[in-house]
Amino acid sequence: MCAGVYCGNRRQLLVLSVCVLTGLIYFLRGKRLAAVSIPSVPLLSDVSRRGPPVEGEEFPMKTPWGAPLVWGDSESSAWRRDEFAHHSIRTSLAILAVGKYNHFLRRLLSTAELHFLLNFYVTYYVLTDRPKELDPLPKLGSNRELKVIPVAEMPGWDTLGLRRMALLASLIGDRIHLEVDYVFCIDVDQEFTNAVGAEILGKLTATLHPVFYGQQRYYYPYEKDLDSMAYIAEGEGDYYYTSEFYGGLCSEMLALTRACSLLILQDQERGVKAQELEESYLNRYLVNRRPTCVLSPEYSWWDSPQAPEVPTQRLHSIGRQCLSTGKTGGNTDAC
Ligand code: UDP
Ligand code: MN
Repeated sequence: MCAGVYCGNRRQLLVLSVCVLTGLIYFLRGKRLAAVSIPSVPLLSDVSRRGPPVEGEEFPMKTPWGAPLVWGDSESSAWRRDEFAHHSIRTSLAILAVGKYNHFLRRLLSTAELHFLLNFYVTYYVLTDRPKELDPLPKLGSNRELKVIPVAEMPGWDTLGLRRMALLASLIGDRIHLEVDYVFCIDVDQEFTNAVGAEILGKLTATLHPVFYGQQRYYYPYEKDLDSMAYIAEGEGDYYYTSEFYGGLCSEMLALTRACSLLILQDQERGVKAQELEESYLNRYLVNRRPTCVLSPEYSWWDSPQAPEVPTQRLHSIGRQCLSTGKTGGNTDAC
């Protein structure tokens, strides 16, 4: 109960406090979004309240050239999984593990057994200089097998980063294309944390780099050295892709790995090296041959102030996480 001037004052006070509180919330939220500088991606709390991603500005479902942009829990991903469910498709993961990177291998394999293309034929092609470290072989589900391909120990991280394309090109050409339909190249320093299903299957699939997702093209670390075969001119290119996870039909992957290893070789002959190594050449290739399936950063994620919050984290990069927190050297359990 109130009357006269007291009632008016109290009401004014109430309205004033609501306004101040709302203003404060907007200010704090604005600051948070500005800090991660990816305004198009909602905060995780908003995401879980809204349920699965739906078409819209926050979750684009298509690239400008009409390829699907994949969020695993969206309706279109469910349709894509249904489409593939009745085909007996043979898929594979190609994993390079040389030197100290061998210690990542078991974690990648055991999490792939929990989350990667369950109910499909999966072959793990493990290229390693220490085949004995896989002894005893990890227990695999039915229709899943592991093939070890011994490779020579190669000194130097740079050298290895640039050798992978050539190794893959010869392995796909000699063997993989005869044995499976799809091959995905994956960095060993990663783990699957949630389902990765048939929604990823495309003729040519590439994954958006989380740090540059939603950023202006200007910030992409495309190769800027005019002398490099990986050079990307201003105005070229759509997205910046990660080299940690990409794949597709064997024929497409054979073309990609052959073309990229040729670009790398041409640079090496002239003593040129692209700044982001393999990733630079991959991005160059994907400018000319756009992927037919683009995976959102759900499929390449690590905890960093620059990475967007995503509805579901599916593939987690332990190595890049360690780099972003400054823990490198392969001495700790995680890194
Ligand atoms: N790699 C390896 N041994 C090495 C360096 C690299 O086996 O000494 C392989 C491994 O599969 C690794 C990939 O090459 O995940 C790419 O290297 P890295 O993950 O260090 O590159 P980044 O993700 O930091 O670009
Ligand atoms: Mn990596």
